[in-house]
Amino acid sequence: MNVLERSGPESDRAQALQRRLRWLECPRCGGSFVLRDGASELVCTTCAVGYPIVNGVIRFVDREHYAGSFGLQWNIHRRTQLDSYTGIPLSRSRLFQV
Ligand SMILES: [Zn+2]
Repeated sequence: MNVLERSGPESDRAQALQRRLRWLECPRCGGSFVLRDGASELVCTTCAVGYPIVNGVIRFVDREHYAGSFGLQWNIHRRTQLDSYTGIPLSRSRLFQV
């Protein structure tokens, strides 16, 4: 029995995704998808590239790219909104503004 044949929230999510597969296409080649591994992965039927599904969200970008982009922004802008860095009491004003 696969996840599409079971009942419960996980199965409901898998069945909803199964119905929407026709609207998705592979970002690499434009191919169509099938669900694999208990609906935890989308696999392209043309180029066979797999995209994991994490907490119901399809990850079309590698995990390293998510973390790398966040890390870059964090390193560049980590003090941008600090009142002590900008010299403008914006956060303090908003905190006490009610
Ligand atoms: Zn593909």
